[in-house]
Amino acid sequence: RGEMTVGETAKLLHKDASEVIKKLILMGVMATINQELDIDTIQLLAGEFGVEVEVKIPVEEDRFETVEENDAEEDLVSRPPVVTIMGHVDHGKTTLLDAIRKTNVTGGEAGGITQHIGAYQVEINHKKITFLDTPGHEAFTAMRARGAQVTDMTIIVVAADDGVMPQTVEAINHAKAAGLPIIVAVNKIDKPGADPDRVKQELTNYELVPEEWGGDTIFVNVSAKQRIGLEELLEMILLVAEVNEYKANPNKRARGTVIEAELDKSRGPVARILVQHGTLHVGDAFVAGNCFGRIRVMVSDKGRRLKEAGPSTPVEITGLTEVPGAGDPFMVFEDERKARSIADKRAITQRQSELNTNSRVTLDDLFKHI
Ligand code: GDP
Ligand code: MG
Repeated sequence: RGEMTVGETAKLLHKDASEVIKKLILMGVMATINQELDIDTIQLLAGEFGVEVEVKIPVEEDRFETVEENDAEEDLVSRPPVVTIMGHVDHGKTTLLDAIRKTNVTGGEAGGITQHIGAYQVEINHKKITFLDTPGHEAFTAMRARGAQVTDMTIIVVAADDGVMPQTVEAINHAKAAGLPIIVAVNKIDKPGADPDRVKQELTNYELVPEEWGGDTIFVNVSAKQRIGLEELLEMILLVAEVNEYKANPNKRARGTVIEAELDKSRGPVARILVQHGTLHVGDAFVAGNCFGRIRVMVSDKGRRLKEAGPSTPVEITGLTEVPGAGDPFMVFEDERKARSIADKRAITQRQSELNTNSRVTLDDLFKHI
């Protein structure tokens, strides 16, 4: 966690505490055995003993950790839930995402040309739902490994003719590790060999028990191909959202996460981001990963130009200096100069930690070598 006492450091280095204290004094650090040393001092100290130490910076610490979400209750308003779809290969994730997108009954925006921006919104009963439209675990795990928490709930798709498979279990584990509510979509119920009850039975082994069997997991039978049960699935998502009361403060500078980004030949760096807090405006100065910029053009998933975007809204933006990475945190600053200086600092920190990783031994190695 970045800090250790002199005593702990001595133990790690297989030295007597007195030796370590002596060395510290020579380094100009007056220390007692219970004093906490910061990571830089520990690194220097190890160097004095002829060992180099890798500093592993946990990803979270490299995020915009100085910003706490400490909004007053009265500033929070309800926001659309953000949903991911996971499940075993060929169980119908892509088909389901496409079918849901077409079910889209967004009144005001109907007729817009839908485009792929990494996520999309649908509206049902005048309520919005945001779907991350990159199925599969890769995007999800990549983002989580970066410490990015972008989803509120997971739909686990299980094909009714195939049942629980290895990646189904993986998906369940991911969702549980992230503490996300799970809705099970039993898909392909149109197929002759479909046996939805068998899926339910199998999932009880993973603590996913349907309500009619005394559990609290929502199961919905669907056919992505024949578009059966989709509305019920969307209604269940809204139900889970209502229970969990997802909220955010729209009246502050925007923060969010990069879902994907690329270099476009004509438009330059393009990023698809999910706004999670605050409201993003055209013209806002921001940092995304190590890149900075100013929002030039902002486009919705329906291809509409937007002037502003509130919590849970996926948008595509241009105006970046470079291409950020998927899972990079995104944050608006008061002006471009501030944004640039933060981006520069982050770039330096990243280079340093890369150097550390490449050229030094780890603390584990230390144990082996001494
Ligand atoms: P993914 O790998 O989970 O994204 O699965 P896909 O969406 O690519 O679907 C795999 C195959 O199953 C495709 O051939 C789909 O047409 C088919 N499929 C998906 N959903 C259904 C369904 O509800 N019924 C039937 N009969 N086939 C489906
Ligand atoms: Mg697919």
